[in-house]
Amino acid sequence: MDRKINLKARSLKELELLFKKRKEPSYRAGQLFVWIWKKGIEDISLYTNFSKRLREYLKANFYVGKLSLRACFNSEDGSVKYVFERENGERIESVFIPCKERRTVCVSTQVGCPLGCSFCATGKMGIKDNLSGWEIADQVLQIARHQNVRVSNVVFMGMGEPFLNWENVKRAIFILNSNFGMNIGSRKMTISTAGIIPGIYSLADFSPGVRLAVSLNSAIQEKREKIMPIAKKYSLSELKRAIEFYYERKHRMVTLEYVLINSFNTAKEDFLALKKFSKNIKVKINLIPFNPVKDVPFLAPSKNEIARFYKWCLSLPCSVNIRESRGRDVRGACGQLAIV
Ligand code: SF4
Repeated sequence: MDRKINLKARSLKELELLFKKRKEPSYRAGQLFVWIWKKGIEDISLYTNFSKRLREYLKANFYVGKLSLRACFNSEDGSVKYVFERENGERIESVFIPCKERRTVCVSTQVGCPLGCSFCATGKMGIKDNLSGWEIADQVLQIARHQNVRVSNVVFMGMGEPFLNWENVKRAIFILNSNFGMNIGSRKMTISTAGIIPGIYSLADFSPGVRLAVSLNSAIQEKREKIMPIAKKYSLSELKRAIEFYYERKHRMVTLEYVLINSFNTAKEDFLALKKFSKNIKVKINLIPFNPVKDVPFLAPSKNEIARFYKWCLSLPCSVNIRESRGRDVRGACGQLAIV
């Protein structure tokens, strides 16, 4: 296998070139893409609409890689945390979240994360590598096959900051969105960022139109910097401008994710700052009670704290939800993904 090339790492265009060189019709690329990404079949011998000679050629020079499933943990709430291994032995995590008619997969985009948010287990790992486009998309494919379901939604909210691996995330979006691939609508995909401003502007100009979520967590500049070091580079005012720009281009509401941390960002002044930040921009707000993480000096908010903050938020002119993280008991909830 060593010197063979992984066909899964090739885009549709690259496959077309490959067949063109062989003087095969270009529609072969679409057929191959369907075998790999729609049918999820890695064994080239089974590609029965290819001639035996073509199959032998492909088998001699290429292979179809996949992430190896190393473990999965079933949560009491129905979600499932998956641990996958890359070809180089590094491990990543993804989460399957079934909810009513939705079957969502939360994917990782990096091995670890360089941003070091102080409330997040992944941030404690540091960054080891970027995932390639096929590895990001393959998390969805492998989970769909393991669960035997059609995945309806994908959220780029697992390990890593998607905009720091944007080129590969775009390749994954193409695979997931393609009719020859998994055919998941772009509106059913959401990129969650810690606030990488150039990434937001790039997403605003990117087609297909993927949804945007911003991990805000505090609308007070100094407080945000305390828990999210990236806030020192990109200020709240720049972030607000970028959100406005995204909405102007895409006409899609942006989700503000606000992790509620005990006695840190749940006071009246925090609410008033959030109110000011969200004024005149088209957003909805998800309040996410903090999930305790080992070696992190924060606590989950009390029920009263959550209820009080939520009640204040009800006065805002936008939609506000309390989003209980799924998979908490298997350490698959927001901010808990980390291979240790
Ligand atoms: S919250 Fe997101 S951006 Fe921050 S360290 Fe964790 S994975 Fe990285």
